[in-house]
Amino acid sequence: MSRRLTLAMPSKGRLREPAWALLAATGVDPQEPGERMLQSHCRNADIDLLFVRADDVPEYVQDGVVDCGITGLDLIGERASDVEVLLELGFGACSLQAAVPREDDAREVGDLAGRRVATAHPRLTRAALAERGVSAEVVPVSGSVEIAPRLGLADAIVDLVSTGSTLRTNGLRTIGTLFESQAVLVGRRGSTDLAARDTLTMVLGSVINARASRYLLFNVASDRIDEVTAVLPTRGSPTVVDLATPGLVAIHALVPAAEVWSLLPRLEARGASSILTLPVERMIP
Ligand code: AMP
Repeated sequence: MSRRLTLAMPSKGRLREPAWALLAATGVDPQEPGERMLQSHCRNADIDLLFVRADDVPEYVQDGVVDCGITGLDLIGERASDVEVLLELGFGACSLQAAVPREDDAREVGDLAGRRVATAHPRLTRAALAERGVSAEVVPVSGSVEIAPRLGLADAIVDLVSTGSTLRTNGLRTIGTLFESQAVLVGRRGSTDLAARDTLTMVLGSVINARASRYLLFNVASDRIDEVTAVLPTRGSPTVVDLATPGLVAIHALVPAAEVWSLLPRLEARGASSILTLPVERMIP
């Protein structure tokens, strides 16, 4: 029997809900943790779950306390954790951006040379500035970084941004992106017991692929098959099935979810009818 895999999940914060939803979507049936429960397990898979803060996940994985974990790419960089990124999870997307007060003259990251930059992400900030050859003074702060320029603590800030509305609300203007982040599945580097974690990576990956796709079905006259299939953005060959009515076929294809809205009117214009799109649960290419 294979050994049980331990997976560290974010116990609170922004990554908690989407991480939990992703795991649940794989069908592994994780046992819902109670309010203060730190551990649980999956009923139908050999996976034990440990609930810890997303910031602590990189260290737990690096030190081998758990086999794998879900955390933000920024948190791995900020802690300089030596872990292996196994899979990008497609949620928790944000970027580390440099911003200045709206009235400031700075236009790009290079304009921060010789100035003070407040951030709660000092390691990532120093590394990104050094990479760009910009010598600035980094002032580490632990919270409310947006008010640092107004308090005279710094000339600029570097912070994680997803929509940019917090920056705008605080009278700040972005001048460049230093780092792009999203939630990732990580594993311990040098781990030798790879079978269970490869399975977890594959299963999570199949759900992430599926989320980006829709199953499309429609009917069309058989003499227009070439016309409609020419506009289908599918990688593989679509399925063409004869209908009971002579001269009519049904076409099935997997298409990128993001393209559905622009595709439907083009199909209709080429004679497609009874068009359906369905969510896809799992997809293993
Ligand atoms: P938490 O502080 O536990 O809510 O989670 C913070 C993590 O969520 C960060 O380390 C990022 O990986 C991710 N994240 C996604 N969007 C944002 C954002 N707008 N601000 C801060 N963190 C974000």
